[in-house]
Amino acid sequence: MPKIGNSLPDEDILCERCNSKRKISKTWIEKIQNPNGFMILYHSQIVCTNRECQEEFEKTLLEETLKREKLRQLKLERSVKRPVTKTA
Ligand SMILES: [Zn+2]
Repeated sequence: MPKIGNSLPDEDILCERCNSKRKISKTWIEKIQNPNGFMILYHSQIVCTNRECQEEFEKTLLEETLKREKLRQLKLERSVKRPVTKTA
């Protein structure tokens, strides 16, 4: 039976962009409330030790976030402008 879970800590996985070593830059815990109680999620942010690579990655990430935010705003505006048709 295959082992479930990470056999390798994320840190030991090389960067898929530049093959450099990566490191954990921060870890945090998120508590999510659900009808059955709490769910605890463990997050860790892994960064590339290659500074140029990491900077490039963050730039792309930021651009994507901005793009998504723009799309969301656009959608919101459209839904506001659209006349509401009510069936009596
Ligand atoms: Zn890298």
